[in-house]
Amino acid sequence: MKIIKGILFIAVLASIYYVITLEWKKRNTPLPTELHPIVAENRDILIQRAAAKGINIVITDDFRSAAEQDRLYARGRTEEGTIVTHVEGGESYHNYGLAIDFALKLDDGTVVWDLERDDNRNGKSDWMEVVSIAKELGFEWGGDWRGFKDYPHLEMDFGLSIRELQYGERPPEQ
Ligand SMILES: [Zn+2]
Repeated sequence: MKIIKGILFIAVLASIYYVITLEWKKRNTPLPTELHPIVAENRDILIQRAAAKGINIVITDDFRSAAEQDRLYARGRTEEGTIVTHVEGGESYHNYGLAIDFALKLDDGTVVWDLERDDNRNGKSDWMEVVSIAKELGFEWGGDWRGFKDYPHLEMDFGLSIRELQYGERPPEQ
């Protein structure tokens, strides 16, 4: 009995220690303020490789602070407009500098969100060609999500969940 109580006591202490450590890390790990360098590098490669296929893209969004995310979340909910995101501040990979959004840029400078058009006339949708290049580079595409589909969205999670990021886990810088 005494041994069991002893073991229990240690287990409780260890759990308390674990929770405190987690909270500590959560509170003391600053939020990123810009796009992760590896993501930025791959964004540039994506733009170049798409251009080489005759497709010009623009990055319409990359790093987004938690406050900006909250403002976006309000759109179509407490503010006017249509819903553009399903996540609040701190819940998007954009908030950790790990996501970008793209759109197509036409020759006349117009920016379009068109999944069908084939301006380089190779029989393939330009949008999906960009998505394929992005996937080769290691991006995950929001169009593949079940439920809410986010077609312009590309992210690199480095194996980290939003919850782990919220608790202060960060991908390596290199
Ligand atoms: Zn996005």
